[in-house]
Amino acid sequence: MGNPDLRGYIDSLAPEEILRIKTPVSRDFVITALVEELERSNRFPALFFERVIGSDMPIITNLFARKERIHQMMGTSEADFPSRWLDAESNRIKPKMVPTGQVQEVIHRGEEIDVTALPIMGHYESDAGRYVTSAVLAAKDPRTGIRNLSFHRLQVKGPGRMGVSLHSRLHLWNYFYASEAKNQPLEVAAIIGAHPSLLLAASAKTGIDIDEYDIAGGLLRQPVELVKGQTIGVEYPANAEIVIEGRLLPGVNEDEGPFGEFTGYSTSRSTRNVFEVSAICRRKSPCYLSVAAGASADHLNLARIAKEAVVLDTLRKRVPNVRNIHYPRSGVNLHCVVSMAPGPEGTARQALMLLFGLDPNVKLAVALDEDIDMTDDSAVNWAMATRMQGHEDIFIVPRVFTIRLDPSSRGGMGSKVGIDATKKPDSDGIVLKLKDEHVKQAAELLKTITR
Ligand code: MN
Repeated sequence: MGNPDLRGYIDSLAPEEILRIKTPVSRDFVITALVEELERSNRFPALFFERVIGSDMPIITNLFARKERIHQMMGTSEADFPSRWLDAESNRIKPKMVPTGQVQEVIHRGEEIDVTALPIMGHYESDAGRYVTSAVLAAKDPRTGIRNLSFHRLQVKGPGRMGVSLHSRLHLWNYFYASEAKNQPLEVAAIIGAHPSLLLAASAKTGIDIDEYDIAGGLLRQPVELVKGQTIGVEYPANAEIVIEGRLLPGVNEDEGPFGEFTGYSTSRSTRNVFEVSAICRRKSPCYLSVAAGASADHLNLARIAKEAVVLDTLRKRVPNVRNIHYPRSGVNLHCVVSMAPGPEGTARQALMLLFGLDPNVKLAVALDEDIDMTDDSAVNWAMATRMQGHEDIFIVPRVFTIRLDPSSRGGMGSKVGIDATKKPDSDGIVLKLKDEHVKQAAELLKTITR
């Protein structure tokens, strides 16, 4: 029977959640352009390209572009998502080894290795080359044996050579430098295409002593079934679509990037590591999973949604009048708004400061009243226009550690800007509002007007 897999998930999507494209399409740039074109009209379907020119493998992308779809996948609602996530993080389930799996139906080693035979995409013309954007890299801590799953972009450099940036400098980076100190390579499995739960688990911001496979088990509510690597001592899901086995080379650094990052900028920031392929394992007819690059909703959601659940849960526990948070898409995960019920004076600032501590990427945070639609950028601007006075409602904390991918950051530091745009008790005026019956009458009237 086995675990839920990627294609089972794709098949389970409601027809309106997936666009199936039968026209042959180039793997270079056109898919990114289609994602952008759909986003301009506020459409975020998963995209399944049945025919890719020059490849016999289909491409699936944009899976994470709609938050509601992610909630559905986890069998929960927006309101219950944080508790569902925390449940998975605290009730983790250890994976289970199985002797064989579909991911090893085809195994290429030695001379047969050729990553260029996979439909690895060109995303933006400013990129250094074709990139795998969906790869979950599995590795083991050389000191403790604890596994880690995390996302890293992989640049195609040759049939058996890929460039990688360990850019977030978190657990994999830590593992690699421990092995490099002993002049040893670090074995890695690059998993391309698995059930979305595995990708969400890989995006979790958690302790270095926690195996993200256990979180994936918590999300799936069953152990993830793993197979042994063919050429490496790292395990990976038996029902994955494609896995590239290999090693991060010690003492080898090569140019990697630039690449179109989530900020909407092409960036050359990279740890410049090299991944040498030792085997490619895959299903007979695999489906190639891609994450839309650049400032796409797919990329932004996948990078943030696990963290967002923990941030929201903590904010609600510590500042009880916090109702919800929202990361506007235009703010590329660097801006966040907080919706608040009336509370004791100063709790807006308390919430904003806590948010800055919980999410180091946020540089601008705005506190809003509940009557403001926090998902509507123009409503947020209206709240700032009419409920905020710069000299008393804005605070700035300079020189704080921040994400270096923010092109305006300086030396790894940036400023935090908090804006309290909630209505103050002594503020003048009542928000204009029409009665529902009059709004209804106007709608009826409009129906009778023909052009
Ligand atoms: Mn980890």
